[in-house]
Amino acid sequence: DARAEDRDPRTGTRAALQGGKGARVEVRGAHKSYWDLEVLRGVDLTVEPGTVTAVLGPSGSGKSTLLRTINHLEALDRGAVAIDGEIIGYDLRGDLLVELPEKKVLAQRTRVGMVFQQFHLFGHMTALQNVAEAPRRALGVPKREALARAQELLEVVGLGAKADAYPRRLSGGQQQRVAIARALALRPQVLLFDEPTSALDPELVEEVLSVIRELSRAGTTLLIVTHEVHFARDVADQVVFMDGGRIVEQGTPAQVIDAPRHERTRGFLQRIH
Ligand code: ADP
Ligand code: MG
Repeated sequence: DARAEDRDPRTGTRAALQGGKGARVEVRGAHKSYWDLEVLRGVDLTVEPGTVTAVLGPSGSGKSTLLRTINHLEALDRGAVAIDGEIIGYDLRGDLLVELPEKKVLAQRTRVGMVFQQFHLFGHMTALQNVAEAPRRALGVPKREALARAQELLEVVGLGAKADAYPRRLSGGQQQRVAIARALALRPQVLLFDEPTSALDPELVEEVLSVIRELSRAGTTLLIVTHEVHFARDVADQVVFMDGGRIVEQGTPAQVIDAPRHERTRGFLQRIH
């Protein structure tokens, strides 16, 4: 029954994620400005393979920019991002900025998936086509194989019965689960979530969080920007609090969420609770 399936997105996640071995993410001395606005002011962050990092912080603190530089949607002005020790994009060696060849950048980007607040599905494609598209284009996977894998991934996120639905016929929570399946289709080693539930009606938040919670046990490295503090406490190995383009505080959920040392962290947690 489609509705029962819809309620249980857990079955088989780990199997479907086969081989998505998590990579280490390292950000070193990341600086980024838009004209005279310094958005990242020296960010250092390490995310160990297969762990979950939750990024908290007020609006405008640089959280999205940080994720976008990790996925090479933005280039850093200074500093470096490395995935399993391989530097993505710009590398600071002395004063020299080394730009990677475009081909290498593209190859690296397929290792890092991203899920956005506003889903960004292709409106003219069915759920199944949305999920099958990237493997066909980016990896040259044959159509039949891409479609079979897409169906499997839709089942993993509890939407096997919605394969032929267009995004406009799906709820926000369903659209976001399709977007997660689409990100998984490239078998990323790192998955970035930028406020994945912020655009959802409150009653749809949990169905998306439960898929992410299941992924968090599947061995992929996850970085999640979220205002869902309870969720962060639940799933995160590491919590990072950003403000003003810097990491103000980082540690375990028990340290950062339950016993924040910094006034700005305390103020932020009080405001959103
Ligand atoms: P957050 O995700 O924490 O809300 P962002 O990384 O989106 O923060 O943005 C940090 C700051 O950078 C904000 O002041 C935002 O307006 C600005 N900003 C982000 N992207 C751009 C851009 N492409 N051009 C100019 N300013 C930007
Ligand atoms: Mg943001």
